Amino acid sequence: MNIEKNKVVSINYTVKDDKGEVIDTSEGRKPLNYIHGLGYIVKGLENALEGKTVGDAISITVKPEDGYGVYSNDLIFKVEKEKFNQINNLTVGMQIQMQTENGPMIFSVAEIEDKTVTIDGNHPLAGKNLHFDVSVTSVREATQEELDHGHVH
Ligand code: ZN
Repeated sequence: MNIEKNKVVSINYTVKDDKGEVIDTSEGRKPLNYIHGLGYIVKGLENALEGKTVGDAISITVKPEDGYGVYSNDLIFKVEKEKFNQINNLTVGMQIQMQTENGPMIFSVAEIEDKTVTIDGNHPLAGKNLHFDVSVTSVREATQEELDHGHVH
């Protein structure tokens, strides 16, 4: 069975950055299961897996625009520090959820100054090339219930 939309796919994967540092890997864990075609994994990887089958292995580089996005300065904001008064131990690198015009969004705290806090809405992997080594360990039909829920059971 080949990988196509609405198939449940299991993969072993390792993803590295341009320096060869491992960003994430399934090694030592169970394979990652996902429903193909729903955008659960980054677009560049999903496209590369289309049509593959059990036993296939691929090595690909996914560019930021097909990965976690291009780094955007428009997603960096300075906010009055007093808005964060309810948060204990506000620290650089902390992830916080904030309401925006487009709904809730995750930001990381980039800088803390006397009166302002700089927050960054870019994904931590935005702007990075992603070097994937992936092998396909299983492909099967999704059940109706899985499709209804949008996730693997
Ligand atoms: Zn479910």
